[in-house]
Amino acid sequence: MTNHLYANDLPDGLNPGPVVAVDCETMGLNPHRDRLCLVQLSGGDGDAHLVRVEKGQTDAPNLCRVLTDPAVLKLFHFARFDIAALLHAFGVVTAPVYCTKIASKLARTYTDRHGLKHLVQELLEIDLCKQQQTSDWGAAELTPAQVDYAAADVLYLHRLREALDARLAREGRDDMARACFGFLPMRARLDLAGWPETDIFAH
Ligand code: MN
Repeated sequence: MTNHLYANDLPDGLNPGPVVAVDCETMGLNPHRDRLCLVQLSGGDGDAHLVRVEKGQTDAPNLCRVLTDPAVLKLFHFARFDIAALLHAFGVVTAPVYCTKIASKLARTYTDRHGLKHLVQELLEIDLCKQQQTSDWGAAELTPAQVDYAAADVLYLHRLREALDARLAREGRDDMARACFGFLPMRARLDLAGWPETDIFAH
């Protein structure tokens, strides 16, 4: 299990795999105001690849190639936010995607606890420490605790997807999940384009 830390982009030719877990750390929750600082990826092999994004950086060609590759499924927890952050930073629409939060909402209707920490706890019986969640991701140097935290956010998503897919199949909702995942890139575009809090399907 290794954390690889890179400046500005993935190394040339690095292909993390056909299903890539992705997470972003930003300066805050408003994608128009709060810049993207870090993008974490994992191919599900226990290694995490962390790309630091500089202030003012508008491109990362190798990373964007993975994000837009139709043959690579991008696996997120709360994809809606990360897709919007990546679109705002680099101008690319990430697809195709899978979101463990949506899968959980469709499959785990007995609870309203759909945070990553709760999912990992219940489905994988692992305790995630979320202490660094609100730390300064724009700092010149990341602390070892920040790097470990950031890596942990992508290291369990493959196993979570497996567990959630089994639940979705059991409840007969896998087709609903797939349709929701398909709409996610557009949901993120609506967020950025001025409909962040509006349910466009509501009356
Ligand atoms: Mn994170």
